[in-house]
Parts: sequence; structure tokens; C-alpha cells
Amino acid sequence: MLDPFGIRGDFPIFDTFRSKGEPLIYLDNAATTQKPAVVLQALERYYTTANANVHRSPHRIGAEATEQFERSRARIASFIGARESAELIFTRGTTESLNLVAGILAQQLLKPGDVILLTPSEHHSNLVPWQMAAERTSAALEFVDLLPDGTLDPDSIRTNWNPATRVFAFQHASNVLGTIYPAGELCRIAAERGAISVVDGAQAVPHSRVDVAALGCDFYAFSGHKMVGPTGVGGLYGRRGMLERFNPIFGGGEMIRKVSRHHSTYADLPHKFEPGTPDISGAIGLAAAVEYLEALGMDSIEEYIADLTQYAFGRLQAVDLLTLYGPVQGRTGAISFNFADVHPHDVASILDSDGIAIRAGHHCAQPLMEWLGVQSTARASIYFYNTRDEIDALVAGFGKVREVFHLGH
Ligand code: PMP
Repeated sequence: MLDPFGIRGDFPIFDTFRSKGEPLIYLDNAATTQKPAVVLQALERYYTTANANVHRSPHRIGAEATEQFERSRARIASFIGARESAELIFTRGTTESLNLVAGILAQQLLKPGDVILLTPSEHHSNLVPWQMAAERTSAALEFVDLLPDGTLDPDSIRTNWNPATRVFAFQHASNVLGTIYPAGELCRIAAERGAISVVDGAQAVPHSRVDVAALGCDFYAFSGHKMVGPTGVGGLYGRRGMLERFNPIFGGGEMIRKVSRHHSTYADLPHKFEPGTPDISGAIGLAAAVEYLEALGMDSIEEYIADLTQYAFGRLQAVDLLTLYGPVQGRTGAISFNFADVHPHDVASILDSDGIAIRAGHHCAQPLMEWLGVQSTARASIYFYNTRDEIDALVAGFGKVREVFHLGH
């Protein structure tokens, strides 16, 4: 088992708060995670020892920056199970990755009458780009059904499959319900029926060992900042065959082979999808994050989060007037709830006065809120540096909410 107390020492923010004498019980990890010193040092080291533009500079420092950038790509690609580093496109994160895929498919694949299949629990970043694609192409959006606990039934997806479906886009894990979806099986259903699978892995990559090749997905999107990496950098995995089949939709420097006045040819993978100067330090910082996670071990991280989530769920189930959403088993550490009829923002503000940071709102998943029959929820989300003591503090915090709102015990 991981030792969260030892691990917390790797994250300078906890020391910063302790030395200010302020508690920091950070339970908003599904929004973004804290950063270990090794990631912060990697960013500083790059800027103080090797800062230059990549892929174009004829000097030694430029070659060093390029080497570090491409080594980072290889490290991250292997972390998610890509067969080769050329299958990893650097982006600003999940949102940009999904917009890139949706934009490409809108321009080069989708036709009127085609169907884009989604789940009702998608984050807006895996919904709005498809709405835009549907508007541009007159393709239709369809949604699979969710079971009452927020899980999916693959058999019913098979039975109800519309043969016009060209794209099946779904999240690997829900940022609201915590549900882990059977991504491998869903990708297989799409592949067997000739549809392209697009997986939003923002909440899965940080929590478990993801192997995109074993999943058999066509595209897989993720964000660095949710896995102890820097903000503003993430990735889009694309199976080589897919990336070769489509043309870039953003043009500029770096992504070309030859440019003449009226026409250009494009660079090889992955560069044809990366116009302009990339987030070099971000990529290097994300590679440091991946190394940090791998040193802890993704299996140990998954096991620790599962154990703490079960503990939290058990304790929260015993809190009177608390409604919990999502499945009990087969979930990540995102736990959404409502407390009596207190507005989630009030719950979050009262907990914040005790140094407990949780999120409240619609979590960029308004159709899911509608499906749940609520306007919003509060959400506590766990990562591997959280402890049982912190869960106990969260549970105790509801006592204060009760007092403020004069709710009985
Ligand atoms: N999908 C899911 C499931 C998420 O949780 C998030 C972030 N909350 C995103 C997509 C978007 O990620 P980003 O804001 O890093 O682009």
C-alpha cells in the first residue's frame, strides 16, 4: 500500500499551507491535481539549462531542447500504451484533443445522415465539439441509455446500434459519478460496426494503468494537469492508421514538408498535427509527472484510490440527509452528493472555512445533471495523497453545515 503521509512530502503546496498555519484538505482532484517538486524542478531545469525552440534551431541548445521534448513524447506515449511515440500528438489538454478530432471528422468524414453516438454523462468537452460537428455536417447526435446507477449496458448498445453510426465518443471515467466505463468493450463494439471510437480519458489516465493499444481505441484524449503534470499540456493518442488517414485542420510552421505559394505538403506524424511552437516545458514537465507516477506504480495508485474511495463512500453513506450519486463499486475517486436541500455552493463554502476544498456546480456536465434530476451537486474527489483523516474531516464538516442551516441530526 502507498504511504500517503510520505508522499505528501513530495508536494510543496502542503508544506506551504502548513507553514502558514492553515489547513489544506484538498479534495478537488478531479478538477486539477497538486504538483510534486520533481515536476516543478523539471520546468525550472528546462528553462535554466536548455530553453530554445524545437525542431528548427541549428544550434546545440536547440538540439538539446528538441531531444528533451521528443524524449518526453516517447515517455508519455509509452505510459499510455501507444505502440510508438508518433501516435501521440501534444495538445493543450483533453478539451483541445477532442475538438481536434471532432474538427477533423467534421471536415473529412461526416456526412448528412451520419450518426455520432455519445453517452448522456459526457463532460461538455466531449459533447459541445460534437454538437458543432453535427451542425456543420448535418450529422445527427444520438445517446445511449444510462442504467439507474449511471453505468452502461454494452448489450443494449449492441442491440440498439444504428448502422449509420460513424463515431462513438464516450468517457472512460465520469468526472461526476466516478463510473468507470468498459472502454475496451465499447471500442470493440464500435470497431466491429465500422465506427471510429473516441475516448475521453481525462479521469481515467490519472487513476489507473491505461493501455490504448489493448483498449483498441482509435483516439484517446487526456490532460496533464489531472495527473500531477503542469496545466496547459495534454495529449491526443491516435492509432497510426487513423492519423495517416486524415489531414491536419490547423496549418502553420512545423507541420509542413514543402510550402509553395498555392499549396503545401505536410510533415510526417506526429508533427503534421502540431503547428507552431509547442508547449515544450509543459511536455517535459508532463514526462516528469509520468515518471513520478510510474515510480509509485499505477497499480499501487489505483489500489490506494479504490481503498480510500470505498472508505469515503462507506463513511458518507452513514451521513444523515446526504444523497450520493453514482455506483458503489467500479468507480474512481470522484464522489458527487447533495446534502439535504442545501445549495452545493453553500456546502462547499462552509467546508472551505475549515480548509476543505471541494467542488460545487454542474461540473461541465449539464445533461447529466438533468438526467440526475438536479441543478448541481457537490463533489469531493480523491487522489493518492489524500488520507483517511481527511475523509473524516470532510464527514465532520457536515456537522457544521447542519448547524448553519439548523438541520436536525
Ligand atoms: N473530460 C472529463 C471527464 C473531465 O473531467 C475534464 C476536466 N474536468 C475534461 C474532459 C476537460 O479537461 P481539460 O479541462 O483539462 O481540457
